[in-house]
Amino acid sequence: MTIAELFKKVLPFTKPYSKLIYYTLLLTVVGSFAAQVNAFILKYTVDRISDLLISGRPLETGLYLLGIITAVLLGKEIIYSIVQFGQKFYGEKLRIMIARDFSQAIVDRILTYRMAFYTSASNESGKLQTRIDAGISSLTRLVQNFFIDILPLFANAIVALVCMFLANFYVGLIGLLIIPVYFYVSQLQAQRLSGFRRNMRRYRENKNNQLINLIDSITVIKSFVRERTEASRHRQIQYDMTENQMSTRRTSFLFDSVKNFIEQIGVVFVIILTAYFVLSGNMSIGAIMFHIMLFNNVSAPIRQLHRIYDEVNDALIYSESFFDILEAEDQREPSGDYKPNTIQGKIEIRNVSFNYPNGHEALKNINLVIRPSEHTALVGLSGAGKSTIINLLDKLYEPTTGEIFLDGVNLQEYHTEFLRDHIGLVLQKNHIFKGTIADNIRYGKTGATDEEVIQAAQKAYIHEQIMDLERGYESEAHLLSGGQQQRIAIARMFLKNPPIIFLDEPTANLDAIAAEQIKASLDAIKLGRTVITVSHSISQIIDAEHIIVMEKGQVVEDGTHEDLYQQHGTYHKIFTAMASSLNLQKISESLKENENQ
Ligand code: ADP
Repeated sequence: MTIAELFKKVLPFTKPYSKLIYYTLLLTVVGSFAAQVNAFILKYTVDRISDLLISGRPLETGLYLLGIITAVLLGKEIIYSIVQFGQKFYGEKLRIMIARDFSQAIVDRILTYRMAFYTSASNESGKLQTRIDAGISSLTRLVQNFFIDILPLFANAIVALVCMFLANFYVGLIGLLIIPVYFYVSQLQAQRLSGFRRNMRRYRENKNNQLINLIDSITVIKSFVRERTEASRHRQIQYDMTENQMSTRRTSFLFDSVKNFIEQIGVVFVIILTAYFVLSGNMSIGAIMFHIMLFNNVSAPIRQLHRIYDEVNDALIYSESFFDILEAEDQREPSGDYKPNTIQGKIEIRNVSFNYPNGHEALKNINLVIRPSEHTALVGLSGAGKSTIINLLDKLYEPTTGEIFLDGVNLQEYHTEFLRDHIGLVLQKNHIFKGTIADNIRYGKTGATDEEVIQAAQKAYIHEQIMDLERGYESEAHLLSGGQQQRIAIARMFLKNPPIIFLDEPTANLDAIAAEQIKASLDAIKLGRTVITVSHSISQIIDAEHIIVMEKGQVVEDGTHEDLYQQHGTYHKIFTAMASSLNLQKISESLKENENQ
């Protein structure tokens, strides 16, 4: 990205604050004129005092002169302080507002992106977060630097340069000549540093990502006593980062010294030239201080040039990926506009193959029909592709090839939000948001009454347990156990009351009693709805009217429990394995003993 492109992208964000920008600019202009006053006053003072010394009546006129000078300087300082306050305040206000808008814009945008955006390797949560954070902070710093630091300094420099030229053409020329030299050196410095900066960005992303992984997997780390391995892995990143930081500083300081040297040469030239003019009688003695002060006003902002380059480069590097995220039009979730009055729930999958964004082929030429108002179970070993089918049916991903039809209409034509409003999805592990239990259940239906929330909780067999808590429905949902959280998710679905339900191992995290209770309430909600269950629980599979067996991304068997069991194929194998893992013989013996007693 070039600087011009960057500004074009940032411009729309500054539009709502154009008034604020005008005020800031106006204050900048006033401030830049006020900044030159000291130079003029000093020249006037030196010249007048020198005149007075020559005329031999220094004291009484001198006091009068000092009074005037003090009044002018004080007046100027008062104006300058007000201007600076206004300028800083408006500039800061602008920065805060724009930072807020950037943050909101990116959140609004990424929420509309498809699932593949979140699951792609380059957007792992730590990396995505760092990229967004770094983008926002470097862009807001750019806005801040531009309006609070750079603009006033440069306005100041231009006015000072004009004053220098008005005072004397040759002195002005020295002031002017130093600018391209400085620009050149600063650019060289920025070029040298850009590689380090890119590395720094990568190190930061990796470090954050690693830290998040570390916290997420702390139980495994501790149970395998891998603290030292993890610490040394982290140390490596940290050491590489430090090395990079040191190289950055070394280059930076070297260039700073060169620039300082160039500036001092400028000062020396101004002194020599002005002294020559004074001695040859073309200028008064006050001109020496006058020119040095003006030259200082010209070189002050240029001294900041490398910082500006740094900031702009930072903004270029970090904002590139920020805007890549913000403008990823191809990541927007596709949606049709079909919204039928009712959904029957007949699903047909025709010749569907699917590869995940990383290229992994999860489904191979799937053909199947799921009849409406029936309970279908997807059976297969882990990794067979069962959850992937659910993902495709919920339009979280689109098939790579082939088509999916719901009630005879291609899924692509459905309005995505409408479709999801009519599908209930309960996963093995459901997310519980920070907040109260009531809020978490109400997530299923915004605006649900308290009675509705309680009814849903009762159906999910969690009401009594909630009432046992000190603050009941107002308790923090995070405090609940895994199994209880699962029931909150099921209550959410009861509240949503959709015609189609996908259950992806909904009872896998529950204890036997909870699983039995949930099964009873799920059985109740299944009536008259299209339900697809992915489960390893024999009782849930056996209940299904239709069983689809998957193996390595393909459908290998399809039929009722009785049919499939007779076939002595994959289903038979899985079913007998499940049954023998339950140790049925011992279970039935125990139950029989119980009956005989
Ligand atoms: P199942 O539900 O039958 O256990 P899945 O549908 O979850 O299986 O996964 C099918 C295959 O796709 C597995 O090999 C799995 O590793 C892979 N897979 C699942 N999710 C992703 C993903 N987000 N990116 C890449 N591969 C994935």
